[in-house]
Amino acid sequence: MSVHNNFIAGEWISSVEQIANINPSDTNDIVGEYAQADREHVKQAIDAAYTASPAWAQSGIQQRFDCLDAIGTEILARNQELGTLLSREEGKTLAEGIGEAARAGQIFKFFAGETLRNAGELLPSVRPGLGVEISREPVGPIAIITPWNFPIAIPAWKIAPALAFGNTVVFKPAELTPGSAWALTDIIARSGIPEGVFNLVMGPGAEIGAPMLNDRRIRAVSFTGSTNTGRIVAGACSARNARYQLEMGGKNPLVVLNDCDLDNAVNCAVNGAFFSTGQRCTASSRLIVEESIYDAFVAALAEKMEGLVIGDALAQGTDIGPVADQTQLNKNLEYIEIGKQEGAELLTGGEVVEREKPGFYQKPALFIDTDNSMRINAEEIFGPVASVIKVSDIDEAMHSANDTQFGLSAGICTSSLRSAARFKQESQAGMVMVNAPTAGVDYHVPFGGTKGSSFGPREQGGYARDFYTTVKTAYTQA
Ligand code: NAD
Repeated sequence: MSVHNNFIAGEWISSVEQIANINPSDTNDIVGEYAQADREHVKQAIDAAYTASPAWAQSGIQQRFDCLDAIGTEILARNQELGTLLSREEGKTLAEGIGEAARAGQIFKFFAGETLRNAGELLPSVRPGLGVEISREPVGPIAIITPWNFPIAIPAWKIAPALAFGNTVVFKPAELTPGSAWALTDIIARSGIPEGVFNLVMGPGAEIGAPMLNDRRIRAVSFTGSTNTGRIVAGACSARNARYQLEMGGKNPLVVLNDCDLDNAVNCAVNGAFFSTGQRCTASSRLIVEESIYDAFVAALAEKMEGLVIGDALAQGTDIGPVADQTQLNKNLEYIEIGKQEGAELLTGGEVVEREKPGFYQKPALFIDTDNSMRINAEEIFGPVASVIKVSDIDEAMHSANDTQFGLSAGICTSSLRSAARFKQESQAGMVMVNAPTAGVDYHVPFGGTKGSSFGPREQGGYARDFYTTVKTAYTQA
């Protein structure tokens, strides 16, 4: 099996160590062998990004548009193949994998356009005869560190704006999903982008992350991942005054009021809590339900969960693929025990299930009789596990929804305009959904949260520019 190498200074670079990328739907299936970068590789990648930075910053917007547009075009043309690779290495269903790959293509197309829309401002000065120009300039070499659960879309929504606004990139994807990262790099490498502008280093975060965070030539770090790693990124960057952006965990509430469309509420809950095997930072892990509809909602949700097909991510008809790996599966099982010990009732699911091929299959779990004091409702599990919390009215629902250290996404199911308006206003989350799942977002509008979920400017859409540019104010005496 050929090894997929790192990409540094325009060359594919081999390494002493490789890892096997394992298919979580069938652990006998090896997706590929991937080179592991060491600290010397990271240094070479930073050297390359630093050296290429001035010319790329001065490159014309047409050149940057053409590169990003070409990348987007190729991803879209190959979205079935890229989506299949993604589902095979990560375990989300084929429809989800193909959808995510297509999304990555759309993101590159969007940011191709953004290169042409990097407008500045022109103001009169308070001093007669002077003019003031405000422009947006590149930040410099940027480190991009990403998680395994959206292995092509998250890299795309960081890499595309970084390149669009004239920054160079050192990209470190998650250890678990190097396949999608490598395939994306291969496309970027053939897009006409100059050498050194974009570099890929694959390997363990603890080993190769630190030199990326601590090198003074890396002017900004865009990170998505767990809250604990986010703290390490924040500590290292703030110590040397580098810019950083963190997207981390969630414990997202879906409020279900008694005036909702019950079918839609159940669909929102199933989609939000269990699709992508619950491995989404925007997953609805807390279902906050008004008393008078509680029994009907729980019964309908449990019935719907019984009908979910758990199986091979690539098989037709699968609703829920496997958990991404043994570590995540162990974590899910541990939290199910914690929930039981805390006094929550496990109504259905949670157990490991066997399929034809060996994989990390788990039945989605639903806890009832829970409250926010329980760890299962306070800590991010990141698996197919949801809890129901009973509340007496919208006042209590609002309090419960906001009673969390996180603030990424929040949803409400209601037919009341008044309740929807109040929820949109009073929710402390960065993204609020009415009669729609907490997960599932558009790419042309801001993405991000509040409190412990996010730090720094928003990602995606036009707002991405705030992180990937620095503002210059120029005065000219006529
Ligand atoms: P993780 O924190 O373990 O890893 C994320 C990335 O950080 C990986 O590339 C990893 O190698 C790297 N890393 C680890 N230690 C490092 C260090 N010391 N220095 C530098 N880099 C290091 O997270 P994960 O398990 O890959 O992803 C799951 C987490 O991601 C969940 O908490 C989830 O909520 C979060 N997530 C958040 C969003 C969002 O937008 N808010 C989106 C997707 C996932």
